[in-house]
Amino acid sequence: MDWQPENRRALARRLTRILNAPPTDALCGLAGLESGTAVRIGVTGPPGAGKSTLICRLAEQRLADARQIGILAIDPTSPISRGSLLGDRIRMESIAQHAGVYVRSLPTRRTHDGLCDNAADLLLTMEAFGFDDILLETVGVGQTDFAVRILVDTVILVLYPESGDTIQAMKAGILETADVLVVNKADLPGAQKIKTEVEAIMRRRNKPGDWQPPVVMASAAEGTGIGDLDDAINRHGAWLQDHRNATAIRRERTKYLVQSLIGRRVAELLDEAPPDLLAGDLQDAHDAVLRQLLDTAPQSR
Ligand code: GDP
Repeated sequence: MDWQPENRRALARRLTRILNAPPTDALCGLAGLESGTAVRIGVTGPPGAGKSTLICRLAEQRLADARQIGILAIDPTSPISRGSLLGDRIRMESIAQHAGVYVRSLPTRRTHDGLCDNAADLLLTMEAFGFDDILLETVGVGQTDFAVRILVDTVILVLYPESGDTIQAMKAGILETADVLVVNKADLPGAQKIKTEVEAIMRRRNKPGDWQPPVVMASAAEGTGIGDLDDAINRHGAWLQDHRNATAIRRERTKYLVQSLIGRRVAELLDEAPPDLLAGDLQDAHDAVLRQLLDTAPQSR
C-alpha cells in the first residue's frame, strides 16, 4: 500500500464508518473472522503504565525492518458526555508523522471490555489496507480488559514499579492473558522487585508445553529494553506458527462478537425504552426488551 495522503484519508473514512456502525449493521466481521497476514499486537495494562510511550518506541523499533505499522489507540469515553479524550493522538504525534505509520484514536463508546465498538471489523480493515503490524492499545481498565486476548495474536501486559495495580492485576487473573510482560519505567526504583515478583507468579502458573511468557524490563522514556520486547514478540509469533488452533480461535471470536453485538443492541433498546416500562414490573420490562430484540433481528441475509 502506498501511503499517500489520499490513501490515509480513505482509510480514516472507512474506519469512522465501521466505528459508527450500529450493532444491526455491524455483522460484516462475522463473515471474515480469521486473522490475515498482519501481526496483531495488543498492549494492555493500567493507566499511566506507559503503554502509549512504549508503543511509540516499539513502532520505531519495528520500522527498522521496513514495516508498515498501524496503531489503534482506544481511549475511554466519558459515559456522561459520550465524548472521547483522544489523548493518545497527542501523545503519539511524533511517531504519527512517520510515513510508515498510521495512528488512529478510537473512543470506547458502549463497549466496556477495554476495546471499542466493532473492534474486530476495524482490525480486519487495517489488515485489508496492508499493514504488517497492527498495535492495538486498550483502555487498560484492569479486570475487564480481557477481550483484547480474543482479537490479537500477542498480548503485552505493561506493568510499572510501585503501581499498586500490579497486585490488583494479578488477583484479577490478568497475568494469565498476557504472552509477554513488560516492567516499564525500569529507570525508576522498584522495577527489579516487580520483575522478580511477577516471574515467581508466572513460574507457579505455567504448565509444561505452554508458552512461557517472558518478563521484559524496559524504559520507554529512555528507550531501553525495546529490542528485548521486540524479540519476545517475534519469539511468541514463531511459537504460534506451530501451536495456533484456528478452530478454537474462530469459536472464541464468534462467541465474543455475538455477545458484544447483542449486548450493545440490548443497551440501545434499554436507552429507547419508555420510562414507564422501566419504572414498572421487572419481569414485564425484561420480556418487553427481549421481544423487541427478537422482533428487530434481521430476518435473513
Ligand atoms: P499510558 O496511560 O499507559 O498510555 O501511559 P503513557 O504512555 O501516557 O505514560 C504515562 C506517563 O508515564 C507519562 O508521563 C510518560 O512520560 C511516563 N513514562 C512512560 N514511560 C516511562 C518510563 O519508561 N520511565 C518513566 N520514568 N516515565 C515513563
